[in-house]
Amino acid sequence: MPEHTGRSRAPWICSGPGIKRTPYRAPTEHKEGRAVTQPVPSEPSVRPPIRTCVGCRTRDERRNLLRIVSVQPASDEAGTPRYLPDTAGTMPGRGAWIHPSEACVAALEKKNGLARAFKRAVPAAALKACCEQIRAVLTARESSPEAAPGTV
Ligand SMILES: [Zn+2]
Repeated sequence: MPEHTGRSRAPWICSGPGIKRTPYRAPTEHKEGRAVTQPVPSEPSVRPPIRTCVGCRTRDERRNLLRIVSVQPASDEAGTPRYLPDTAGTMPGRGAWIHPSEACVAALEKKNGLARAFKRAVPAAALKACCEQIRAVLTARESSPEAAPGTV
């Protein structure tokens, strides 16, 4: 029966393109897979943040430095801002950085490194108060070495 054979072949031919269509969808899926497997552009230069010490003017890793922030006292609007060591590193405002060492604190006091770091006049009294605060932090750290991570 030739007719029967012809009829039975027709569906095969028709379904042919249908099967061929499936590979056409594949590229779409392939694309998605590509996007996932594509390497995420990672920063090749993962360097630790570098800051300049206001005492010795040496650049060092931020974790090795103590942050100093300027704080404007709310009760003293006309007064000069105070400069405090930010031991937690979370205080807002412009910051300066200094090595937690007496030598750098002495250099800061001698050269008034705060004025240079904060780009404004820092009275001697404020500078001295800041250095005293930093020294207090250093003393506290010496008495409890556990609280001094990153101190070399
Ligand atoms: Zn220093």
